[in-house]
Amino acid sequence: MEKISVAVRFRPSIAEGAAEERQWRIEDNRISLHKPHGTPISGISFAFDHVFEQSSTNASVYDILIKSIIHAAINGFNGTAFAYGQTSSGKTFTMNGSQLEPGIIPQAVRDIFDTTHMITDREFLVRVSYMEIYNEEINDLLFLGNQRLPVHESLERGVYVAGLREEIVNSADQVLELIKLGEANRHVGETNMNVRSSRSHTIFRMVIESSAKDSTSSADAIRVSVLNLVDLAGSERIAKTGAGGVRLKEGKHINKSLMILGNVINKLSENGKHRAHIPYRDSKLTRILQPALGGNAKTSIICTVAPEEVHIEETKGTLQFASRAKRITNCAQVNEVLTDAALLKRQKQEIEELRRKLQGQHSEVLEQVILKQRNDMHKSELEREKLAMELEEERKSRQALEHHVGEQQRRIDYLNELLASNDARKLLQGTIHTHSNYEEMNSSNCMSQGNTFTTPIFKAMRDQFVVKRSNHSKAFDSSPLPENFTSMANEDLWLQLNKGFRTDLDALQMTPNIKYGAAQSNDTSIGTDLEEWNTKERCLNLASECRLHALQVDALKEQYDMLERKYSQLREENSSLVQTLSYSNHDVVLLKAQKDELQKDLSYEREKMRDLKEEIRLFGLVFAERECLLNSLYSKSKTMIENFSNSQII
Ligand code: ADP
Ligand code: MG
Repeated sequence: MEKISVAVRFRPSIAEGAAEERQWRIEDNRISLHKPHGTPISGISFAFDHVFEQSSTNASVYDILIKSIIHAAINGFNGTAFAYGQTSSGKTFTMNGSQLEPGIIPQAVRDIFDTTHMITDREFLVRVSYMEIYNEEINDLLFLGNQRLPVHESLERGVYVAGLREEIVNSADQVLELIKLGEANRHVGETNMNVRSSRSHTIFRMVIESSAKDSTSSADAIRVSVLNLVDLAGSERIAKTGAGGVRLKEGKHINKSLMILGNVINKLSENGKHRAHIPYRDSKLTRILQPALGGNAKTSIICTVAPEEVHIEETKGTLQFASRAKRITNCAQVNEVLTDAALLKRQKQEIEELRRKLQGQHSEVLEQVILKQRNDMHKSELEREKLAMELEEERKSRQALEHHVGEQQRRIDYLNELLASNDARKLLQGTIHTHSNYEEMNSSNCMSQGNTFTTPIFKAMRDQFVVKRSNHSKAFDSSPLPENFTSMANEDLWLQLNKGFRTDLDALQMTPNIKYGAAQSNDTSIGTDLEEWNTKERCLNLASECRLHALQVDALKEQYDMLERKYSQLREENSSLVQTLSYSNHDVVLLKAQKDELQKDLSYEREKMRDLKEEIRLFGLVFAERECLLNSLYSKSKTMIENFSNSQII
């Protein structure tokens, strides 16, 4: 168990403070508010893990507050750092920084790659995503088409944003380029970027996986940690920004998100043992940050404040938020994953195979090919997941619709039964009118009315009808159906009377109870006719709704089939991609073999050439020797001839 670490940072003052103004004073890690003449204002004094003065740098914030979290994340602990504070207090400056003074995010990115490159006994896999929560909707900043993404939860993955693009990366520069792309995407179509950026939360997320390099067993655990670096929306009260119209809507959502964050922090800061329910689920932000708040993560909060007198109330609010956050305890532990939830594990086999095939290639080329292969595999996996999710949603809505249609059908059947029973009842009542009472009717010789009593409909429906009536004799939530009709409704008349009018089913269900027995009188007036018309009208409405729902079900079925086709098409594409890759791998192997063969021929030729050179050299030597011999022979014979001719002369 460890406390969240909370720091406060003052941004440089924009306006030079007049001497007579109230001022914030910093002494070590304590902040207090002082009156114009220097006396402290009682009750306004706060202590934190660290307080950064106006002259502090992003580098010092990183070293003191963030570095330890980043290094823990490399070792398998989840980590979160977020900036909280009013608009223009320096959140974005702290998180992103400037060209001259890089903020927490770029420093963390560089630190991660520098550190992981130095750890030689572990293999690392880093992937990044970048999202924005605006008006309680999650938008992907790395892929423009990905908007309004849902938050899902699974046992293996915990809480995650479904469909969010993740890019596997292997250098800091690559990540910084992606962040630039995200920022550019954020600006697309935005007329007033300042309003949007102060109203939205951005979450830059890195997932770091690592496994021991010498691990041979597939049962070895993989460390998986999630690092969130969050730039929150401005925490100022909406009244102060004068929000209205569209901005009111934005303000409301910002309020909601930050209000829930405040609630969550309040609840968490209460005595741990008696903690009430923590409303993480009430906003997207707190849902995503759930592990960072009282869960399995190391968390740092940097609360940025403006030093000016005009912002004192907002600053007080921020400091109070920070004080509460300081009381939260987290329980961070190294996350070791044995299952396929780790990407390193899922891709292990393919990557090993690829490495084996490309053995001997230049290491940089090899790493680039592997990175591309990893990204391709991950993307098709995400695509599949997204499609499966869409299919599941379609399936659910189809089921719901089918259920609804079934319900409507049952209601219609029931109404038809009632109508049929009513026909029989009318006939029965007609009979009763011819007799003085029911007993009389029963005791009399009924042969003449035999047909009336033996009507198949009546016989078939009587018991059922009684049962249904008794079921409905209790109080109703919705209006019960009229029990009795004395005459058949005239459908043509009903159509004439109700031309173009359709009853709203919801309104129909909410009409007040009709007292039973009211229709039991022998009143054969128009009122009873109207009841029958109403019933018929309901039947017709329900029937047309049924038809409408059936059409909707058909349309959904078609959509479902289309999605299934798309899904199988994507699967085919995926497998053909894998096949192409294996073909090209095969080609690489063939080319390598050819190259080896050629190299062998070349060295053979070289050897031959060397031999020939040697032969030529030897031949030259022999030739020179012979030339020498011949020369000496020649000079000898010349001397001999001279001697001989001299002796002849003498
Ligand atoms: P927020 O994101 O909280 O709305 P910004 O980070 O955009 O605020 O800061 C508002 C302005 O103040 C920016 O121009 C920024 O460069 C400047 N600023 C904020 N904090 C600092 C700081 N510590 N040092 C220098 N300039 C700062
Ligand atoms: Mg900002």
